[in-house]
Amino acid sequence: MKKFDPAMAINAVANTSAERGVNPSINDSATFCFPKGQLMTDTFHGETQGYYLYSRHWNPSNFALCNALAAMEGTEAAWVTASGMAAITCALMQCVGKGDHIIASMTVYGGTFAFLDNYIKKFGVEVTFVDSTSLEEVEKALLPNTKVIYTETMSNPLLRISDIGKLRKLADRVGAKLIIDNTFSPMIFSPYVLGAHVVVYSMTKFINGKNDCVAGAICADSDFINSLIDVNNGTAMLLGPVLDSYRSTSILKNLYDLHIRMQKHSQNAMYLAKRFNDIGIKANYPGLESHIDHKLMVEQMNDGFGFGGMIAIDLITAERANLFMEKMQEKGVGYLAVSLGYFRTLFSCSGKSTSSEVPQEIQDQMGMSEGLVRYSVGLDNDMEATFAIIEQVLKELKYI
Ligand code: PLP
Repeated sequence: MKKFDPAMAINAVANTSAERGVNPSINDSATFCFPKGQLMTDTFHGETQGYYLYSRHWNPSNFALCNALAAMEGTEAAWVTASGMAAITCALMQCVGKGDHIIASMTVYGGTFAFLDNYIKKFGVEVTFVDSTSLEEVEKALLPNTKVIYTETMSNPLLRISDIGKLRKLADRVGAKLIIDNTFSPMIFSPYVLGAHVVVYSMTKFINGKNDCVAGAICADSDFINSLIDVNNGTAMLLGPVLDSYRSTSILKNLYDLHIRMQKHSQNAMYLAKRFNDIGIKANYPGLESHIDHKLMVEQMNDGFGFGGMIAIDLITAERANLFMEKMQEKGVGYLAVSLGYFRTLFSCSGKSTSSEVPQEIQDQMGMSEGLVRYSVGLDNDMEATFAIIEQVLKELKYI
């Protein structure tokens, strides 16, 4: 059977402007007028098509981006938010209320971890953190009031892979929703096609790829998206974290070359991972057969986008990691900065930055060393030349 092709699915979406521009126009309006009063009432009740009420709910620019995102994910619908955290928190809060239970992976992004560990408890929601790569652990944590199983397709920073189909079966046992954060691996994985109910993104990362804004997306069936923007009960409508239409329009253009960027990020990351291993620095990369989840990744991934742009190496102590990163930055390898999915290489020490919200004992349980350096590998045309600089830095520091 031919696998799903998210890039061709986006290509099939005709997104021209009303004036026949090849790109949709930026719609610069917060509110929209109606030719008839009754139409406004019907639109309030969600009973019309092609009418816009107010930009916090829908606007034509966001609609164009959402059409393309839904095509990419194979979902009926999507909705775009002002950050990845807004997408994650709105999706989660839409599914739970007082007395409900969430099962979450303990390796999720630090902000998501903090939201689940500290914030959502204020609303009387219980959270059990598990190693979501262990289906037995997930199964053991299931409760009759479990409403969500939440994980990331490719975990941060150890790049463990989730078995989406099997997690869906567990979610179905108690009628819970499987919500998957696919930020690290757009196009490479299609979590909805694999069985997830809801796919969330920080578009700040690979999807936009330019590090010029924060943005997020929620992709799901129409019922879920409509429930999010329901004027009476929708978390997204009532908390209001909508993406600005200027940003939607610029992100949409970047979506159309995402497949080429993912291929190059993956090619460069594979090269770097192999070269690190050649010189005796163990690289964690799911593209390598030695990675614990390599086989599982191959079973679930779409063809043609590679194994992703993220790799991690272990330099044992945070001090050694910092020295290494500072020198790499000095020599132009990339930037000592959090975030990922940028055209330049970014590196950070996960335990002391993006995962610092995760308590030390859980970091230990995850197998995350304090000297772990996470790379988001850039689009360098000559990765061999970049690696030569990295190797030189390692030699100067006497790490090899
Ligand atoms: N999900 C993952 C996997 C992330 O790495 C991040 C990073 O910041 C987020 C979600 C949050 O997204 P944002 O910063 O766009 O709110």
